[in-house]
Amino acid sequence: MLLGPPASGKGTQAELIQNRFGIPTTSTGAILRRQAKEKTPLGLEAEKIISKGGLAPDNLVMQVVEAWLEAHPAAFLFDGFPRTIEQAKEFDQILQQRETPLDLAIALAVSVDTIRTRMSQRFVCPNCGKVVSMGKHVQSPQDPCPNCGGPLEKRSDDNNEALQRRLEAYWEKTVPLYKYYGNRLVEVEAGRDVEVVFADIERLIAG
Ligand SMILES: [Zn+2]
Repeated sequence: MLLGPPASGKGTQAELIQNRFGIPTTSTGAILRRQAKEKTPLGLEAEKIISKGGLAPDNLVMQVVEAWLEAHPAAFLFDGFPRTIEQAKEFDQILQQRETPLDLAIALAVSVDTIRTRMSQRFVCPNCGKVVSMGKHVQSPQDPCPNCGGPLEKRSDDNNEALQRRLEAYWEKTVPLYKYYGNRLVEVEAGRDVEVVFADIERLIAG
């Protein structure tokens, strides 16, 4: 699993891992955002909370995770999950039942300044869930999604107030996980170029 604060590059690294190792990857956030778009009861409930910068409640997240594990029983990578100790403990129990123990937790470490800069350049495709950076994947917010050609928009949770709350939630709820995972967790400095960060991750996964 991949942990890290907002805009630490989790989505990008998850995609690289999927391409290189063929491990199916998902982000509980992306699934919930898609459900919100489709206006499912689960999605609407999550949207109300997430748009204010809060974390999706544990029961919603665990529903998404269990459904995903059913569909991908062999190998899997979660990007940005778990976010709380409760989720981590529940996840360990589920994995134990499935006899698929956690191989590795990678935490991406990045400074608050980097987070703010990256966040201001970040847009999302509501159609396929692709997250793009201005000046990198596309040159202007009017450009189409490089993945599916759909229109891009600002994520509803990418504004200063919501970011502040997400950072606080990250420090308060997610950072304690680092201790919980102990030596199952490795921290990777993620303020560097995408390729350099991925080279470190590649070495860790290849073991
Ligand atoms: Zn798209």
